Amino acid sequence: VDELVREDMTKLENSFPGISERFRLVNRIGEGTFSTVYKAEDLLYDHYENDWDVFGQGEQESWTSPPTKRRRVDGANGRKKVRYVALKKIYVTSSPIRIQNELELLHDLRHCRSVCPLITAFRFQDQVVAVLPYFPHTDFRIQYRTFLVADMRHYLRSLLTALLSVHDHDILHRDIKPTNFLYNPELKEGVLVDFGLAERQGTEYHGTCLCTHQSYVRRSRILSSYYSKNPPAGGTSAGYPKSDSRPSRRANRAGTRGFRAPEVLFKCTSQTPKIDMWSVGVILLTLLGRRFPFFNSADDIDAMIEMSSIFGTRRMKTAAAMHGQIFESNIPTVGEKGYSWEKLVKWSSCVEDLTESEKQATRLLGGLMELDPSKRLSAEEALQHEFFTSPVH
Ligand code: ADP
Ligand code: MG
Repeated sequence: VDELVREDMTKLENSFPGISERFRLVNRIGEGTFSTVYKAEDLLYDHYENDWDVFGQGEQESWTSPPTKRRRVDGANGRKKVRYVALKKIYVTSSPIRIQNELELLHDLRHCRSVCPLITAFRFQDQVVAVLPYFPHTDFRIQYRTFLVADMRHYLRSLLTALLSVHDHDILHRDIKPTNFLYNPELKEGVLVDFGLAERQGTEYHGTCLCTHQSYVRRSRILSSYYSKNPPAGGTSAGYPKSDSRPSRRANRAGTRGFRAPEVLFKCTSQTPKIDMWSVGVILLTLLGRRFPFFNSADDIDAMIEMSSIFGTRRMKTAAAMHGQIFESNIPTVGEKGYSWEKLVKWSSCVEDLTESEKQATRLLGGLMELDPSKRLSAEEALQHEFFTSPVH
């Protein structure tokens, strides 16, 4: 283990009373904006023998009381049984409400298949550590190139299974991307992690977006053609409107660039679990197109341009108007019509023709990367897709 990592682990062991009696830190496995994750050996393994869910069994154990059980030793041969956990240290910069939200949602989802369960969580002063079972997985950046269509099927089935239960609990994950889905190719299964941005449907930014109205499709067409005849004040000739007098809209934009759904970019104020389905589509596009990251935008405007170079400006305008927004572009390389998914996948992966199974996967891709969230496949519908129910080989 790297010297600096060792130092960092020692720091945690020294600053969090009792942690070293409970866990032996092995390595640092993740470092993000809001947390650091460590792999650790669980020294009180048989505490959790039959059930990872000790959180739900009443009171939480206290750090200050001495460990009640010693390291487990197996009978005759004395072989020590080892169980690893992932310790997620959530940074103090993360607000207490945010931390509580993540732990609460994980607790609600503890029995869901393909969702990484929360074993327990500890707090010392302002530090919070969540304890999760360690899930061995492969690095997506290495894995995706070698994926056959059958591998994509296993990967997606597992991810969609996780989302089926998450969405069934009316929870939006908001940050679906490869680093938050730990996939194990041997098990052909993965677990969904990182509910740091997740939210219950309708809790924040309650507003009703234009897209929630029954007749929005017709209205959005009318609006879209109205806007193209009456461009907003300031004009769009120099790229963005110079003096846009409209009030800025507040909408949850949390997520990762490249994976944000169009309605998130268009600041829809009534976002649904369908935003996660778009991100699943982006993962599938990465796999089929054999490019990671597929989208590489620096900001939301860039992201819209990337999107419009696929969908064309006409469909982008309709999508924007659906949420009461205007989409204008004067970028010469972005056409009006856009391209078919088959064409894009072929270009991206540099193949002449797609196999029948790739064509099936590409049809699923079209259902996931659908601009209109109300037409986009749900997790349940996606799992019923021919790609899973009648795979061709
Ligand atoms: P962050 O909010 O910092 O992104 P995550 O929960 O996504 O935190 O964890 C960061 C990384 O740590 C993951 O991408 C993964 O590599 C690793 N990790 C997290 N949980 C586990 C786990 N249960 N088992 C194995 N590795 C994990
Ligand atoms: Mg993460």
